[in-house]
Amino acid sequence: MFVNNSPWLKQLNRTRPVTALDGDHHADVAIIGGGIAGISTAFYALKNTNKHIILVEAGKIAHGATGHNGGFLATYFERSFSSLISEFGIKKASEGQQAIESTWTLLDEIREEAKMQTPIWQFTGYAACANIDEVLVHLRNNALRVKAGLPTTLLMISDEAKDLSSIPDMYKELYTVLPKADILSLLETTDEEYIAILPERKGCMNSALFCEELIGYLLAKYPERFTLAENTPVRRLVLKDSYAVLDISKTKKVTAKEVVLCTNGFENINIVNTPGKAINAKFHQLVRGIVGYMAGYTEELSKPPAEISYLPKKSNHSSDIYEEDPYFYLTRRPFETETKETHNLICIGGPEALMDDTNNYNQEHLYPDEARSEIDNFLRYTYKHSPKDKIEYKFLWHGLMGFTPNGIRLIGPEPNNPILYYNLGCNGVGLLPSIYGGQRISWFLSGKKVEPSIFDPKGDIKQVVPKKHIRKRLNLKK
Ligand SMILES: Cc1cc2nc3c(=O)[nH]c(=O)nc-3n(C[C@H](O)[C@H](O)[C@H](O)COP(=O)(O)OP(=O)(O)OC[C@H]3O[C@@H](n4cnc5c(N)ncnc54)[C@H](O)[C@@H]3O)c2cc1C
Repeated sequence: MFVNNSPWLKQLNRTRPVTALDGDHHADVAIIGGGIAGISTAFYALKNTNKHIILVEAGKIAHGATGHNGGFLATYFERSFSSLISEFGIKKASEGQQAIESTWTLLDEIREEAKMQTPIWQFTGYAACANIDEVLVHLRNNALRVKAGLPTTLLMISDEAKDLSSIPDMYKELYTVLPKADILSLLETTDEEYIAILPERKGCMNSALFCEELIGYLLAKYPERFTLAENTPVRRLVLKDSYAVLDISKTKKVTAKEVVLCTNGFENINIVNTPGKAINAKFHQLVRGIVGYMAGYTEELSKPPAEISYLPKKSNHSSDIYEEDPYFYLTRRPFETETKETHNLICIGGPEALMDDTNNYNQEHLYPDEARSEIDNFLRYTYKHSPKDKIEYKFLWHGLMGFTPNGIRLIGPEPNNPILYYNLGCNGVGLLPSIYGGQRISWFLSGKKVEPSIFDPKGDIKQVVPKKHIRKRLNLKK
């Protein structure tokens, strides 16, 4: 067993003092949770309104999932585009997809406005497919993207792929055939089972560092309108008709006209909705917790930044593409070590464990041997390591992901009391969606008319993504 040791927090090099709430406070808007969702919400709320904002964080900024992730930037949902269309229709599904893809531009705008130094690497990432059914699912999705007017990339398929001839003619504009050696070389593997690549726009950043820098900018730019309270856990949230009270302790509370919950789905807040139907139980059932385990090692800086996902090998496409079997993902980006030398940091994720009760998750939990062995095996049999190589990890870390029942982030007002908003539910790919969520919430706060979307919280969200969606359940020893 190992301690939870994240490379992102290691790089944080924080200099600000931690300032907790020191008495009662009044604001127009209270944001609860200081991860990338809360900080992006603060950024856009301050930019797009004149309101007084307080951000209340139980611990320290960016020390939740934002400080414990894989650090790659992507705009896909962990559901196929075709299943989004089945649930929402092509118009709403493509608007939702387009909205998340627009976050690349938002990211550039934020960086430019705040003159940020946090490095962000952008490149084409690869998803590796090992069977023709998987390839057909992606081709079908891409055909639907074309129909919806969304940009697509050409799939790359090995000239030695079995069943190549079974690909319907209607997809012929959507893929290209390459020598098998090229496919394996791009995937940095010698595992001959991989037959195709889905290329996609991707990136890498340390989201904790990004948040720490952005919060510094907000504190400096809006001293009159912005307050940050760290080490300030909200115990109870009482919603009235036109204001809310955040109980911190017997002697400290925050009163605000509107509240945005950016807690990733996990909190110990008791929510009391005095004017309407109870929210509490429903809210807690909405988001399930999955612990994700990651490992990282450094090597010489000889290769460019990369992101490669190795999708499940077995074909299992009864209802969606991301089901059941484990898939591992890997990122590579420059990383400065203690000696101030820059190396490449290789991060691998994949093993996950479902949390029955997320209140039992603790960041201090030790890192289980089983997760490390899974990652060892992946590196040995897929990513170029010989089985004899000893792998020395510099970092082993875990974090909690919030999965909404339909696999889509919740962004918008609570139907039972619209003074409460949500920007939460990461679904594994949550960095760019959190930023988009921040912008969308600011539209509501500014009084702008906001069109309905796939992100709207509804009272009747159903379990659309099957339970077996959980990619890799570890049999953790008690
Ligand atoms: C292992 C792992 C790997 C991942 N990899 C990727 C990836 O590669 N790419 C990607 O896009 N996404 C990834 N994600 C998801 C991504 O990290 C999250 O979607 C994102 O960080 C969520 O940000 P957040 O602000 O919603 O949540 P968090 O960062 O968890 O922030 C929530 C904050 O709310 C605070 N809070 C909770 N309750 C209270 C309370 N009662 N009072 C006050 N404050 C409270 C917490 O202390 C916390 O700081 C990964 C997640 C994990 C766990």
